[in-house]
Amino acid sequence: MKIGFIGLGNMGHHMARNLASAGHDVTGFDLAAPCPDGVIKADSPADVATGADVVVTMLPNGAILKSVAAEIIPAMSAGAVLCDCSTVDVESARSVAEDAKAAGLMAVDAPVSGGIGGADAGTLTFMAGGDDAAFKTVTELFDIMGQKAVHCGEAGAGQAAKICNNMILGITMAGTCEAFALADKLGLDRQKMFDVVSTSSGYSWTMNAYCPAPGVGPQSPADNDYKPGFAAELMLKDLRLSQQAAVAADADTPMGERATELYSTFVEDEDGQGRDFSAMLPRFEKRGRD
Ligand code: NAD
Repeated sequence: MKIGFIGLGNMGHHMARNLASAGHDVTGFDLAAPCPDGVIKADSPADVATGADVVVTMLPNGAILKSVAAEIIPAMSAGAVLCDCSTVDVESARSVAEDAKAAGLMAVDAPVSGGIGGADAGTLTFMAGGDDAAFKTVTELFDIMGQKAVHCGEAGAGQAAKICNNMILGITMAGTCEAFALADKLGLDRQKMFDVVSTSSGYSWTMNAYCPAPGVGPQSPADNDYKPGFAAELMLKDLRLSQQAAVAADADTPMGERATELYSTFVEDEDGQGRDFSAMLPRFEKRGRD
């Protein structure tokens, strides 16, 4: 396939490289980041889009996605697929899909889970929204960049799944960190706490695979002075998207709201160092009940 790739940052760099390594003809564009090996550099988003069977975007947010989409949609050939893998709000995803359809294109919103490690190893999970035909066209690309792709429904359904998943992630990380801080104050050894919880009903991805306590459990950003990983700023962005969606859909999400407040205080008032989202543990260690 002839593939255009826009947004070659921490995630997109690896994803584009994996597509090129699998033998696809990949052309890339980024405002700042260099092209990975095997990817041909283009001078503009429109150059990337011209003649491409699929254009993949991996951009920071919905506003940037919409501005890039406005440039590439007129340049894409009829029947080509615009596949956005960024994490953005549901409304932006739906509006880009509508514009693409109106121009005779197909569109898929396909945000990912698995982080930079998953992007590098080609083991991401894709959660996709869009028509069957569009999903079928890009499935072979998901198979290269990831290990699983779930077709969640119509346009925006992929972003809806991503936002719900990451709301659970933020809530669970906050809960895991506060439980470790409580265990400390109760005099419980952290390794014992991990040994019990990771095999009991309190287990979770944040405890078992991404433990926020240094020196406990598998290697995680906690063992690397909380360097990201998944930056607390990105966690906050996703939690805010969940709360924006909850307001729009009239859904009651009190735990998501509290996790958003905690990450907002952490990122804006306490951190400022671009640390991993698991650095919520040192925050709880420092604080008492007041
Ligand atoms: P990043 O900031 O490293 O990469 C984004 C890239 O987009 C940058 O290289 C930037 O120069 C480029 N860019 C910005 N505006 C542009 C424009 N107008 N035209 C072309 N390029 C432009 O971010 P990332 O970590 O790669 O994340 C990308 C997306 O994936 C985000 O939506 C993020 O929420 C999501 N995501 C990230 C992770 C993660 O662990 N990093 C995991 C899952 C999902």
